Amino acid sequence: MSSWRDFAVAAALGVMSVAALPGSAAARPAIWSQPQAPFRIVGDIYYVGSKGLAAYLLVSPQGDILLDGTLPENAPMIERNIAALGFRIRDIRILLNSHAHYDHAGGLTRLKADSGAVMMASDGDRWALEHGASRGDNTASIPGYPKVQVDQTVADGQTVRLGPLAMTALLTPGHTPGCTTWITEVAEQGRRLNVVFPSCFTVAGNVLIGNQAYPRIAADYRSSFNRLGALKADVVLPAHPEFADLLRRQARAKAGDTAAFIDAGQLPRLVAASKADFEKALAAQAAKTPGNASLGPQP
Ligand SMILES: [Zn+2]
Repeated sequence: MSSWRDFAVAAALGVMSVAALPGSAAARPAIWSQPQAPFRIVGDIYYVGSKGLAAYLLVSPQGDILLDGTLPENAPMIERNIAALGFRIRDIRILLNSHAHYDHAGGLTRLKADSGAVMMASDGDRWALEHGASRGDNTASIPGYPKVQVDQTVADGQTVRLGPLAMTALLTPGHTPGCTTWITEVAEQGRRLNVVFPSCFTVAGNVLIGNQAYPRIAADYRSSFNRLGALKADVVLPAHPEFADLLRRQARAKAGDTAAFIDAGQLPRLVAASKADFEKALAAQAAKTPGNASLGPQP
């Protein structure tokens, strides 16, 4: 799910114009479904998503892992991107998800059917994925999406392995109850690089105070910012590519910059901007909810 808040964060990061504010799901940004030529990022990680929604393919001789399916209607585009790189959809053995919202999980059903892959997700997002819905009280109308069966759940700190590939789950709930940040390591030009795939951390219409379906939402956001802030990332690959300026980095890489995707300052900037936006939204909701002084800004 993305809302004006996602875009406010992106704007705060200086990566896009605030003119692109979607008011509702009906006004979803055009770039979410615009084709993007796939490209290698670092190591054996490839970008196979649309211009505005990321899907990442990790390849190995023992099979591939795909993180996120983006929108339901984007699944054929992702499959074309994988084929254009010379990889086969049937080689995907494992499907992962950043979080259970239609703009990141919507394409998974079709991708699962076409690949025969095993779907792995956190317990916190399992229900939502299996119901094609989102969980928790939200003031925006978040669209549904095709249900996808979760074959295996992943716990916090668990590493999903496939041949040489290893993706470790860091649970970072808040935006959804099962938001999962994935972490891996790659070799690139003789260097080991920490690669972090942050889930979403925007408020995006979430009710932060008195959320009946997800009472601990505000505490979860804060602990997730702390967990994410403690990570060291050489390369940041978010669910929304603009949050790490990914396509501009790709343009620089194409022009010969061999370190275009490497930026140790990217994750701290993303965490700081997201956290500031969250605290602002929480304060605004607290101001409308008398008796919630205990929810003031975190020291
Ligand atoms: Zn979302």
